[in-house]
Amino acid sequence: MKLSRRELLTGLAAAGAAAAVPSPAEARDRKVAEAGSVGMLYDSTLCIGCRACVVKCKEANQLPQDRATLNGAPYDAPPDLNGTTKNVIKLAAAGGRSAFMKSQCMHCVDPACVSVCMIGALAKNASTGIVTYDKDGCVGCRYCQVACPFNVPKFNWDKAAPQIVKCELCRHRGEPKKPGVRQIADPACCEVCPRGAVVYGKRSDLLQEAQRRLKTQPDRYEAKVYGDQDAGGTQVLYLTAKGVPFRALGLPDVGDEAAPALSESISHGIYYGMVAPVALFGAALLTIRKNRKQADEEGA
Ligand code: SF4
Ligand code: SF4
Ligand code: SF4
Repeated sequence: MKLSRRELLTGLAAAGAAAAVPSPAEARDRKVAEAGSVGMLYDSTLCIGCRACVVKCKEANQLPQDRATLNGAPYDAPPDLNGTTKNVIKLAAAGGRSAFMKSQCMHCVDPACVSVCMIGALAKNASTGIVTYDKDGCVGCRYCQVACPFNVPKFNWDKAAPQIVKCELCRHRGEPKKPGVRQIADPACCEVCPRGAVVYGKRSDLLQEAQRRLKTQPDRYEAKVYGDQDAGGTQVLYLTAKGVPFRALGLPDVGDEAAPALSESISHGIYYGMVAPVALFGAALLTIRKNRKQADEEGA
């Protein structure tokens, strides 16, 4: 049995009442990283592409092998992030040179995925800045996949219930109690890297370390820390070799503005005084969740 019209209208009213629509006069402030924000620094010039981090990430997150890419190969070699892969090493080429690139969630300072997730299944931890995911709250709308400027969230089609797959900075291995200090262990990829190509720490310390490397070895690096300002700032920072632009690594030219700062300003202007679209969206989500729960119960 599906939701009745009355239930749908009740949902509409509730969602409409809950919708807080700011006035177009409200400026969207640029968000800054909290003092306790943690993250990773990946130095592409140190990476040897051994993929130990890919294997360890899967192990630490109890993720299965990527069956689609096994295809007779002796080992799991995902070419990109996917429903069973939160971290991947890619080979990039630029001007006759090659370089390695580590790809996972960037833990944006002002994350677009969080901004579009009206259910709050994706959230940003107020003290650490880790962008977390709650699979029990997720309704599977996959707006986050569309919104992410780095094409990070993937969908696990093998699960009956909706499930987005993305790096949560190994928070299950111990949420930092004090900024930058973990209870149990560093993120698995940082712990295992034999070259120190990816290291964990407070974002401010990592930024300082990256800038130190640029200053002391200007001939080694492109003169920029990617993620310092890009997309409003990210908590995973990157260094690349001189002559290998970040673009060649697959890091897009997204500008310094966070995606939500632009999209929210526009949408708040458009929807000022119009709660209906927000209410309709809320009601649709209520409908999906209720019907899914019912289908689960009937199938149980
Ligand atoms: S990289 Fe994408 S998924 Fe990760 S925090 Fe930023 S917007 Fe969200
Ligand atoms: S922090 Fe954890 S989940 Fe994220 S890429 Fe590293 S090992 Fe994988
Ligand atoms: S473990 Fe370190 S050196 Fe090996 S691929 Fe990962 S980041 Fe690169």
